[in-house]
Amino acid sequence: MKHEKSRALFARAQALIPGGVNSPVRAFRSVGGEPFFVERADGAFLYDVDGNRYIDYVGSWGPMIVGHNHPGVRAAVAEAIGSGLSYGAPCPAEVTMAETITRLVPSCEMVRMVNSGTEATLSAVRLARGATGRQRIVKFEGCYHGHGDSFLVKAGSGMLTLGVPTSPGVPAGLSELTTTISYNDFEEATALFDDIGGEIAAVIIEPVVGNANCLPPREGYLGHLRELCTKHGALLIFDEVMTGFRVALGGAQARYGVTPDLTTFGKIIGGGMPVGAYGGRRDLMERIAPAGPIYQAGTLSGNPVAMAAGLAMLGLIQEPGFHDRLEATANVLCDGFEQAAREAGVPLTTNRVGAMFGLFFTDRKVDTYAGATACDTGAFNRFFHAMLDRGVFLAPSAYEAGFVSSAHDADMVEATLSAARDAFRVVAAG
Ligand code: PMP
Repeated sequence: MKHEKSRALFARAQALIPGGVNSPVRAFRSVGGEPFFVERADGAFLYDVDGNRYIDYVGSWGPMIVGHNHPGVRAAVAEAIGSGLSYGAPCPAEVTMAETITRLVPSCEMVRMVNSGTEATLSAVRLARGATGRQRIVKFEGCYHGHGDSFLVKAGSGMLTLGVPTSPGVPAGLSELTTTISYNDFEEATALFDDIGGEIAAVIIEPVVGNANCLPPREGYLGHLRELCTKHGALLIFDEVMTGFRVALGGAQARYGVTPDLTTFGKIIGGGMPVGAYGGRRDLMERIAPAGPIYQAGTLSGNPVAMAAGLAMLGLIQEPGFHDRLEATANVLCDGFEQAAREAGVPLTTNRVGAMFGLFFTDRKVDTYAGATACDTGAFNRFFHAMLDRGVFLAPSAYEAGFVSSAHDADMVEATLSAARDAFRVVAAG
């Protein structure tokens, strides 16, 4: 594969953009090497500026659940842009979006649109603090909730990749209000609530962790957190920026049957446009300005073009059987990865939850942060590059979940597994 044009662009970018990228994980720091620059994307494929094609399992980190450049989404956007790009005044599509989200996710009795997952989570936490009159929030090691100050404490995703425990620039007075506990540890949560339950405004969790590889909740774990929060008067926030509309149409809360007080969304509901949302119980959401005193705003929130893209996307994923088909694809893929690894003598286990999956270079089943970080990241990095060389793009870090879309058909999965059989041999050779 040639990479001259990408290399030249990266050199120019590094001179002017911190690390050469506008979001850290894109820089390939964890896996080594340099990122490719994308010229266009279509279906399950990315095409780089040097003319290379990749089967894409990143999907713009989630939104592309129906594949890139879907004609239905594109048509909706094209129609919307014919009527102007932003109004700064309410538009009909915002109402349809609110109706759609509240119908698909019934715990969201009201919803507010924002422009990113980060905005959604930091707004939800402000609401939780404002509504409870408490200051402390509880999160889980390895979960990532965007780059709001309160969340940059023992976070996942790029924070984990770069090994930054708490970001410089977060005031100690604020980070002290974030307590981090271990995901899937029932006793630790109980003990914390026994100790300081009355101080906790909210517990925020990725119900399926997608920012420390892919970690499903243990049986009953989310329900346990629900009980603790209810008992101690804390709010339960599900950060469904990744899982929402993906692990089931109604998100992780539908899949696991646990109802949070507040939910945050991003990615999918913009169909690729910059969008996020938070929603929840009516009595809580009515405290948000201008209905109530807790302030949160956004010039571009509810943008008509973004709403059009998101509504088109949400329309497509409501097709009967859509999520079952994605899950079947993820299963064939992960079963195939496991078999190919076995044949090459490489220890590998996988997790899949709906359209999300994770590869663990270990011989154990992993469902904890400690387990995820104990895996062989060197083996992952070799695998990543061997796959990239063969035209398959996995997330460039051992700590990110992978995504399949409805554009990944049986032939693409087989092409991926064929590449994987070679790539595992490369890993085995060290
Ligand atoms: N929450 C979760 C679970 C996420 O995965 C992410 C981003 N990957 C965010 C929040 C932040 O979203 P954004 O990057 O859109 O700000």
